[in-house]
Amino acid sequence: MSVPKNRESVRRPPSLALPRKGGGNGALRIEKLCRACVAPTQAFLSFGALPLANALVAPDAPSSEEERYPLTLTVCTSCRLVQLAETVDPAKLFRQYVYLSSMSPAFVEHAGRLARRLIAERALGPASKVVEIASNDGYLLQHYREAGVPVIGIDPAVNVAQVAAQRDIQTICEFFTAELAGSLKARGEQADVLHANNVLAHVADLPDFVAGIAAILRPDGVAVIEFPYLRELIANLEFDTVYHEHLCYFSLTPLVALFRQCGLAVNQVERIPVHGGSLRLFVQHAGAAGPHPSVADMLAQEIAWGVADDATYRGFASATTQLRDSIPSFLRQLRARGRSMAAYGASAKGATLLNYCGIGRETIDAVFDRSPLKQGLAMPGVRIPIRAADELVRARPDYTLLLAWNFSDEIIAQQAEYCRNGGRFIVPVPSPRIVPAEADSGHAPP
Ligand SMILES: [Zn+2]
Repeated sequence: MSVPKNRESVRRPPSLALPRKGGGNGALRIEKLCRACVAPTQAFLSFGALPLANALVAPDAPSSEEERYPLTLTVCTSCRLVQLAETVDPAKLFRQYVYLSSMSPAFVEHAGRLARRLIAERALGPASKVVEIASNDGYLLQHYREAGVPVIGIDPAVNVAQVAAQRDIQTICEFFTAELAGSLKARGEQADVLHANNVLAHVADLPDFVAGIAAILRPDGVAVIEFPYLRELIANLEFDTVYHEHLCYFSLTPLVALFRQCGLAVNQVERIPVHGGSLRLFVQHAGAAGPHPSVADMLAQEIAWGVADDATYRGFASATTQLRDSIPSFLRQLRARGRSMAAYGASAKGATLLNYCGIGRETIDAVFDRSPLKQGLAMPGVRIPIRAADELVRARPDYTLLLAWNFSDEIIAQQAEYCRNGGRFIVPVPSPRIVPAEADSGHAPP
């Protein structure tokens, strides 16, 4: 596919000029050097060739039309950034995005709490400016707008930017880069607060992106950056959060070095319970504020945990390989007893899990999902049809594999009637288990 000369990865500050990385052509580039510091990387886990996790397909589309790309985790030998060896053309991944943040009321509420906190702490008002990178459908900026604080959203996905526009949230439909940030700055559009939630992992050119943050932040501004935490991913064997859209898997250690390269400082860090356990960083221009003790504490914890040790990554790879076999065998044993089985959450992580574990229509009859954008389509690769979530109660499969386990409490609460009628969910990671637990020994887990 020909790529429009997109704005991703065009300009770097001279001090960060990188040699041309990788090779390959067209939609896939193989990276041999670290995306943050250009040192060599070392592969530690291969998932084989997987379809793009959000590329839902028509149920009857020929499988020859489905593209598959290798998926390999590597770790930087110098800064210890965990990343993919492959970069799929971002225009293929993000121009039509099927994930609407507002589909999760819990996530919208999480965003509302964060906005109210920043409005109070930074005394934001009509003269302030809040910018969000990857603003999606306006799930976060709407809270600022309601409080009378001017906002600008930036999101490359045409379809979700249209949803934001309906909420009257001004959205620039572009990839965020140093070039875009520079042009906003030239127009006097700088941020008192900049949000970047769950977007850093999508960025192919990290130094350029961080240079853009430095450009768009006012001298006393703060960037609030959230992303799933690598230590949680490894501790809970969340291997299914690995897919082509997630180019990097962050711990604090490599990020402190990356921000420092661009004149920024991580001044505070918090652990938050979203997306399987995340970090929230508060980043400011170097010297704008003193660091909170949380930063040094967490860096010390990461050393003790093994951020620098190859054994940490090798151990994760071997536990993941075992789980790849134990999940399908758990499901097969239930099927062998004549139980019916569906799945819930046509999520990207679901696509990784089903394809990597080799679970298809022989095991799962349908995937239920609340998003109307997904219903009527099928999961990539394994071609399991996607149906409306409110049909789950009527279909009443004995077991429902929870593919969106990061929203498990919310989903189980929404599907209380299904559980009252005897339906049970299976949470796949860190090891498959049935919830709510079954009292009846006839339904005991294998
Ligand atoms: Zn590195």
